[in-house]
Amino acid sequence: MTDITCKILVIGAGPGGYVCAIRAGQLGLDTVIVESTKLGGSCLNVGCIPSKAMIHVAEEFEKAAEAAAGKTPFGLTVSQPTLDLKQAVAWKDGIVQRLNNGVAGLLRKAKVNKILHGRARFRDGKTVVVETETGPKTVHAEAIVIATGSAPVELPFLPFGGNVISSTGALALTEVPKRLVVVGGGYIGLELGTAFARMGSKVTVVEAQDRILPLYDAELTGPVSKRLTALGVEVLTGAKALGLTAKGDGLRIETSDGKERSLPADKILVTVGRKPVTDGLGLENLVLDMDGRFIRIGERCETTMRGIYAIGDVTGEPMLAHRAMAQGEMVAEIVAGLPRAWDKRCIPAICFTDPEIVSVGLSPDEAKRAGHELKIGQFPFAANGRAMTRHGEAGFVRVVAQAGSELVLGIQAVGQGVSELSAAFGLAIEMGATLQDIAGTIHAHPTLGEAFPEAAMKALGHALHI
Ligand code: FAD
Ligand code: NAD
Repeated sequence: MTDITCKILVIGAGPGGYVCAIRAGQLGLDTVIVESTKLGGSCLNVGCIPSKAMIHVAEEFEKAAEAAAGKTPFGLTVSQPTLDLKQAVAWKDGIVQRLNNGVAGLLRKAKVNKILHGRARFRDGKTVVVETETGPKTVHAEAIVIATGSAPVELPFLPFGGNVISSTGALALTEVPKRLVVVGGGYIGLELGTAFARMGSKVTVVEAQDRILPLYDAELTGPVSKRLTALGVEVLTGAKALGLTAKGDGLRIETSDGKERSLPADKILVTVGRKPVTDGLGLENLVLDMDGRFIRIGERCETTMRGIYAIGDVTGEPMLAHRAMAQGEMVAEIVAGLPRAWDKRCIPAICFTDPEIVSVGLSPDEAKRAGHELKIGQFPFAANGRAMTRHGEAGFVRVVAQAGSELVLGIQAVGQGVSELSAAFGLAIEMGATLQDIAGTIHAHPTLGEAFPEAAMKALGHALHI
C-alpha cells in the first residue's frame, strides 16, 4: 500500500470538486483529487452539458419539422426532416469527451498532478483510502473536501431497469420513444420531456403536486404550460405513479380524482429528485451532523468536523453546478488561509424548458414573506422587437424591488433565450443595483435584454414601450 500526504484532498471531480482542486492548485496548495468515474461529474457527463446538447438537437429538429409542415409564418419550407438519434447522441458524447479532456488539462495547468482514479473511503477525519486499479492508496490530508454529488432518486415500486429509465438512460437513447411517460414535472422531467416532445414523442407528465415546476411561481410557469399543451404533452398534476402495468408496457397511476389509470409507454422516465452520494464513503467513521441525508455545512462549507468540508449536491438544495463551483472555489481559498465566507447575494436558477425560465434573487412572494414593501415592474416580450424577429413573443421580464430604496431584490424572466439574460440579472443583484441603475443603463437595440430596463422603468412608473 502506498501512502500519500497532502494539504488538501478533494473527493469527487464534479463541478464542485474539480473547481476546488484547480483553485487549490493555483494557490500553490499540495492537492490530490479522487474520482471514481469520469472527470466532470454528473454535470459534464450525464447532466447539464449532455442535456443541453440534446435540447439543442430537439430544437433544431422541431424547427425543420415545422418548416416541412409549412408552419413558419415567414415562408420557409424544407422537405420532411429525419433525425438519427444515434448520431445525435454520438455528437453529444463528443462534446462531453472534449470537456472531459478539458478538465484534465485545466487540472494539469493548475499543477494538480495527483489525480487518483478510484473510490474514496474515510478511515478517519484525516485519512482516506482510495481503491485504485493498482491497489489501495492511503491519503493523509490536512483538509478534506467531500464533493461526491448526487444520484437519481429511485422509486421503490418503479426501479430503474428495462423501460424504466433515469435521466442518464434518457440521454443515451438511440431511438426516439413513440410514447414517453415522465414521472416528476420538475427540472429534469420538463427539460427532457419537452425535448422528446419536440423530437416527436407523445409525452405524458405525471406530477405529484398540483402544478409543474413547483419551485417557480405560476406566472413564470404559465408560458411553459401553454407550450407543453401546444406540443401535445399531457400534464397530469396531483397524480401518483403506482407501478408498471402487469405486462410492463405502461404505467399505472392514481389521478387527482382518486381514479386508477394506465398510461401506455415505450419508456418511463423517472425524475423525482436526486439524493446525495454518500454510500461507501465511510461516513460512519466520522462524526458529521446531517440534514436528512445531506451533509450539514456552515457559511464556509465546513462540516461539524474540523478540517472536513462539503460542497455541491451532497450538501442539498439548490443542486446546481454553478453553486457547487462557487463553493469549491471558496473552500480552496479558505484552506489556503484567505479570509472567505459565503457572501453571495443570489444563485441564479434556470430551467431550460421551452420557453426558458430564469429566476435570480427573490420572487414577489418570497420578498413579501421577508417583509418587504415592493415595487414590481413587468415587461412582456410581445412588446420587444427582437423577440418578434425571433418569432418568440411569449413571456416577460419582471423586476422586484424594495419600495423605498428601490434596491432590486429579484429578477425573473420567461421566454425564448432568456437563459443568457441571467448574467445581467445576477450582476445587477450582486452589485446592489437599484431600479434607477437598471433603467439608466443603455441596453443595445434590438435585443431581448431591452426588456430588462423596460421592466425597471415600469416599476418606476414610466416604461417607454408599453
Ligand atoms: P457531481 O457532479 O455529482 O460530481 C460528484 C463526483 O464525485 C462524481 O463524478 C462521482 O463519480 C464522484 N464520487 C462520488 N463518490 C465518490 C467516491 N467515494 N470516491 C471518488 N469519487 C466519488 N445544474 C445546473 O446548474 N444547470 C443545469 O443545466 C443542470 N442540468 C442538469 C441536468 C441533468 C440531467 C442532471 C442530472 C443534473 C443537472 N444539473 C444542472 C445539476 C448538476 O449536474 C449538479 O448540480 C452538479 O453536477 C453538482 O456538482 P457536484 O460537484 O456537487 O457533484
Ligand atoms: P426536481 O426536484 O426538480 O423535480 C422533481 C419533481 O418530481 C417535483 O416536481 C416533485 O413534486 C415530483 N415528484 C416527486 N415524487 C413524485 C412522485 N412519486 N410522483 C410524481 N411526481 C413526483 O428534481 P429533478 O427534476 O429530478 O432534478 C434534480 C435536481 O437536479 C434539481 O433539484 C435541480 O437542482 C437539478 N437540475 C437542475 C437543472 C437546471 O439547473 N437547469 C436541470 C436539471 C436538474
